[in-house]
Order: sequence, then C-alpha cells, then structure tokens
Amino acid sequence: MANITLAPLVRCDNCGATVDQVKAQGEQRFVRPSGWGSINAIGARSTDTYGGRDKIAFTDLCPKCAQAALDAAAGALKKIREASDA
Ligand SMILES: [Zn+2]
Repeated sequence: MANITLAPLVRCDNCGATVDQVKAQGEQRFVRPSGWGSINAIGARSTDTYGGRDKIAFTDLCPKCAQAALDAAAGALKKIREASDA
C-alpha cells in the first residue's frame, strides 16, 4: 500500500519557485532539497534615519537563485580585491 505523506513546500524568496521538501535521511523531519541555499548580507549604506543599513536576507533560495546570488557577490568582491591589488 502506498504511504502518502504530504510534504511541506519550500518557496524561493527571490523567484517564487515552489517545491516539495524532502525527508531528511533517516529522520522524520522535512528539509529543503539539496542545492537550495540562502544569502544574508549587510551593507554600509544607511536606509533610514534610524541607522538601518542596506541588506539582503533571502533565507530560502532555489538552486538557480542561490548560485546567482553567490556568483554576483563573489564577482563583485573579487573585482574590488583585484583593483586594490594593482
Ligand atoms: Zn529562485
């Protein structure tokens, strides 16, 4: 007999892609499928008069968005690093 369990969904904070979470190996809890990631970054620019700073906080990113976020951040940082090396 098929054992039907409704998996909770996980939704990409950036593009809205939604997929079923998967059972963690050997456990009952559900986790995001492998390849999903996140990015949290705090910048220096003030966003309000109370000292809030520019930030991005995406807790759930699908593989495509997670990689794009990482590549963009890594690329931007590398550019500055190389410019300051010269
Ligand atoms: Zn996405």
